[in-house]
Amino acid sequence: MRGTCRECSQITRAPRDIFCANYGVSRGSFRSCQGSWCYRCYKAPAKIKFHRQLPENDHGTLWNKMEDKSRFLIARRGDMLCSPFQCDRSWFINLTNREPRDQSASDLSLRAYIRWVNLDILWSRESSTVEKTMNLYNKAREFANTMGIRINLDSTIYTWPLGDGVGFSEAIVMLRYSLEKGNNAKSRCQYDTIRKVRALSTKMNESSAKNGASAMSFRSGSHCVNLATRLTDSIFFRAFLKVCQHQMGSITVQDTALSIQM
Ligand SMILES: [Zn+2]
Ligand SMILES: [Zn+2]
Repeated sequence: MRGTCRECSQITRAPRDIFCANYGVSRGSFRSCQGSWCYRCYKAPAKIKFHRQLPENDHGTLWNKMEDKSRFLIARRGDMLCSPFQCDRSWFINLTNREPRDQSASDLSLRAYIRWVNLDILWSRESSTVEKTMNLYNKAREFANTMGIRINLDSTIYTWPLGDGVGFSEAIVMLRYSLEKGNNAKSRCQYDTIRKVRALSTKMNESSAKNGASAMSFRSGSHCVNLATRLTDSIFFRAFLKVCQHQMGSITVQDTALSIQM
């Protein structure tokens, strides 16, 4: 599949570059999606910045490969094979049920948040995984083409329904929350604080008619486990959560030393 980069107008190719899962499809009354970018053109927006964990020491730093300055900030070759991806416009429509306006500051701000969440989802996969997957795809595609058979290797371009069924809005709220002043770090909230948004979402989901009235369950003797739909349990949201935790790290204020009475 070929397209045109929304950033630089160069020709894009799937799955090397980034294509929206809704590419070429009209959803509801909205015009067809043309969201595709050269992988290097899909970048973090300058408009809003979020904290990134730096390799300060060997104690408790989760990411040790920070020599890659593009980490979390730019998409990679083959990313669309490894993560669920809808373009910024598609997510804007999913969340607001309208088209984004180019001249609106609030719309531009929301699009910036969407871009950050999307990049976080892409970076939930290690670069080595993405690279190996891309190479394997090329090999498998070559075999299939040589043998003249059709195989389902383009499943990542498959239209998503309108709306948010994966907790994308919760992810945006968490990012917004992270910009608030925290207790330990003067400039921002910690991961442990913002993750409470997920707990709130879970509580509300369980209180809904859909889940609260659900009688679907697994039973073994006297033990019973109910089945429920929780948006923040989606593969998508858990991928976001993992990256969010690693990116933010945590700042601990050491307790004052206490003397021990012998
Ligand atoms: Zn480009
Ligand atoms: Zn799209």
